[in-house]
Amino acid sequence: MRFWLFAVLLVPMIVHADDTATRAQKLHAASIVVDTHLDAPDQLARKWADVAERGATDHFDLPRARQGGLTAPFFSIYVAASYADHGAARRALELIDLTHRVVDGHPRDMVMATSAADIRAAKQANKIAVLMGIEGGHAIEDSLGVLREMYRAGVRYMTLTHTNTNHWADSSGPFYEPDFDPKKSAVHNGLSDFGKNVVKEMNRIGMIIDISHVSDATIRDVLAVSRAPVMASHSSCRALSSIPRNLTDEQIKQIASKGGVVMINVGSAFLDQKVYDQFVATLAKVKPEYMKLKAQYASDPAKLRDEMTALAKRQGTPPRAQWTKVVDHIERVIKVGGEDAVGIGDDFDGIEDVPIGFEDVSMYPKLTEELLRRGHSEAQVKKVLGENFVAFFTRVEAVRGKLANEPPNTAVYSEK
Ligand SMILES: [Zn+2]
Repeated sequence: MRFWLFAVLLVPMIVHADDTATRAQKLHAASIVVDTHLDAPDQLARKWADVAERGATDHFDLPRARQGGLTAPFFSIYVAASYADHGAARRALELIDLTHRVVDGHPRDMVMATSAADIRAAKQANKIAVLMGIEGGHAIEDSLGVLREMYRAGVRYMTLTHTNTNHWADSSGPFYEPDFDPKKSAVHNGLSDFGKNVVKEMNRIGMIIDISHVSDATIRDVLAVSRAPVMASHSSCRALSSIPRNLTDEQIKQIASKGGVVMINVGSAFLDQKVYDQFVATLAKVKPEYMKLKAQYASDPAKLRDEMTALAKRQGTPPRAQWTKVVDHIERVIKVGGEDAVGIGDDFDGIEDVPIGFEDVSMYPKLTEELLRRGHSEAQVKKVLGENFVAFFTRVEAVRGKLANEPPNTAVYSEK
């Protein structure tokens, strides 16, 4: 009898839950889902795999991307700091080639894309539109000609720095090193004069400016110089986790007021202050041993890296954030910058500390359902999933159109 009563009480709740779940499923399937930062190329360069097979990379493959309803990932043309002044453009070109090979190998599922219209067309054709973004401005080897050639090769955004300050833009630095000191990365007080020319030329050709990884001073300069709206392709909110890679509320406001977008990184340290605090505490703890290793293997960076990995492993498994924090960050950007300023740039395949419950590209539908449950309208959810990015990309393309009569920038980098 009591059980029967219990069952009757539960029925309305179950029906309600199914309602939202069904609504979320339908909405998600109809939505354009953009992810502005996926590091699959770097993983595939280390270990080639067929993306049609489950587990091709840590967080990406076609079965999981289809399950997640993914429309348009940006494959990251990630050029590690170690390539700076050592074949950086070559590395970028190799990853561009790799991306084309991945897409060419799966013409029924994937198509290369270079415009907002291409993304919409891919959705219509039920294909995954693959776009490319360079991570690390050192990839253009201080040449605006190389920058233009990267655009012609199909690249549509460039992160001005990685964790290394390059010859014309300051980075926020290698925050994961035990002796991290942001002052060491502050060389130009933001953008140098040549860096400002890079930004202006990116505006002219229609290359999206990505300010993830750059220093606060560089963000300030970019916002002052750029004639197009700008993007943070994989950064979250510093108000919720104070990792230097995240953005302050003020920065989010300024990016949004210029028509830009903040694409949320799902790394646990980016999402959760407690996880980041623990990370910082661990760095402090290992610092003495790290300094010893650094001195010992000063001339052998590969060995130092191995020793550092072993040292990190000995500290045990770091804590992970709960996946609903991703939605907290989305809501923070909406609150601070408005509902047009946010999207997803999860950094899959580039992070190891994925949140619990959001482990790979199959998980995007959970965001849709959770946003609906928190009372966001279907139109708002569609914006977060991809419409905001597509509208932003269209605004960048419009600036290119407006600047069509401007001659190519002939500025030349010179060492002071
Ligand atoms: Zn990154």
